[in-house]
Amino acid sequence: MSCEVKAKERAGVINPIFTCQPCGAQYASIGIKDCIAIVHGGQGCVMFVRLLFSQHFKESFEIASSSVHEDGAVFGALKRVEQAVDVLLMRYPNVKVIPIISTCSTEIIGDDIDGVVSKLNRGILKEKYGDREVYLIPMHTPSFKGSMVSGYDLAVEEFVKAFAKKDKITEKLNLITGWVNPGDVTELKHLLSEMNVDATVLFEIESFDSPLMPDKSEVSHGNTTIADLQGTANAIGTIALNRYEGGKAAEYLENEFQVPAIIGPTPIGIRNTDTFLQNVKKFTGKPIPQSLVRERGIAIDALTDITHMFLAGKRVAIYGNPDLVIGLAEFCLDLEMKPVLLLLGDDNQGYNKDPRIKALKENVNYDMEVITNADLWELENRIKNEGLELDLILGHSKGRFIAIDNDIPMLRVGFPTYDRAGLYRYPVVGYAGAMWLGEQIANTLFTDMEHKKNKEWVLNVW
Ligand code: SF4
Repeated sequence: MSCEVKAKERAGVINPIFTCQPCGAQYASIGIKDCIAIVHGGQGCVMFVRLLFSQHFKESFEIASSSVHEDGAVFGALKRVEQAVDVLLMRYPNVKVIPIISTCSTEIIGDDIDGVVSKLNRGILKEKYGDREVYLIPMHTPSFKGSMVSGYDLAVEEFVKAFAKKDKITEKLNLITGWVNPGDVTELKHLLSEMNVDATVLFEIESFDSPLMPDKSEVSHGNTTIADLQGTANAIGTIALNRYEGGKAAEYLENEFQVPAIIGPTPIGIRNTDTFLQNVKKFTGKPIPQSLVRERGIAIDALTDITHMFLAGKRVAIYGNPDLVIGLAEFCLDLEMKPVLLLLGDDNQGYNKDPRIKALKENVNYDMEVITNADLWELENRIKNEGLELDLILGHSKGRFIAIDNDIPMLRVGFPTYDRAGLYRYPVVGYAGAMWLGEQIANTLFTDMEHKKNKEWVLNVW
């Protein structure tokens, strides 16, 4: 009876859980206003990431590529970056922020993106675009190191490093959301507004659930401005909700500008949302209002209706971004479920020191496995060949065939989720997220009870 943390033993990856670092840097970039990233590599490094984002959000947005070809891959392709910056600035008069995101190929050939940024700053930006405010930010995201999660973390830190500027201290709170959905941002803003807290929500992608308006505008943009990023150095504190997706930037602000930081917990479930609100209170001195106590009560009531009767003892496998997986596991435990397998898709050495994983190791009283550097075969193989019995899978759409083939109910959660409508609109954080998640888990199990004719009569008398 223990919780064991171990790395995948097999070499190679079968059906990866994550994609590569540039994807994470691109996800952070879409949260910035007047920003279009240039991904320095082959076109596929943008095309396939954009496709994932578009499938997930069902929205249009813009990311550029330096479109490296064979000659560039052999002789260096920095000229392509110079051309790409020029074309982007000519075509988009509003663009101010251009991250230059490297990829595996351009890191291997050793293209000096820092050098080309200096050259462009001294040259074309002065000569041709001297009347414009333009910031080029090099980001080194080789795909052979880390994953999309570390790419997001790195990009968030690079943006903050590039802009944060000490000035007069404000009453504002920095909130680094991590890799979330528009619905999560809406819920976080709601919690902060109920607490009457003035916060800068960073890398803010709420508008990626965008309306179709009569003027036919159809391109989504992030909402975090240059002024927001500059002001991060003057905030009363930073809360980074996710340890691995924004934690480094929070530490940077603390070390460089003495802005105190609280990293985590990911506010999934009632107790983690309680902690988040207590942390907000700690920084701002604002009390938690009765309206939120009531929302909490409604969520607890909804969860009480389903927990012991339907969820207790259900065995769950969870895969995806580490903060999400750990937050979901903690929430499942609160719902009396048994998360038996957690799959984290990269080999971040920090997982072993994560206090939340340590707490799982100390407190879980049944067999649980946490696999790092995992792929989806770790899940499929255990089900098909090692007798792993599951009542539920929680994860993104890339694992859908494991659920379908093995007739295991699955709730889509995380990134990307493209095979169910509108999931990006619903929060998994906050009290609303806890209620939504708990009820979706229950409804997924109810549908399975009907499908397998397994005690479905209970639903007639519940
Ligand atoms: S950075 Fe490398 S792994 Fe990622 S999309 Fe480009 S070629 Fe593929």
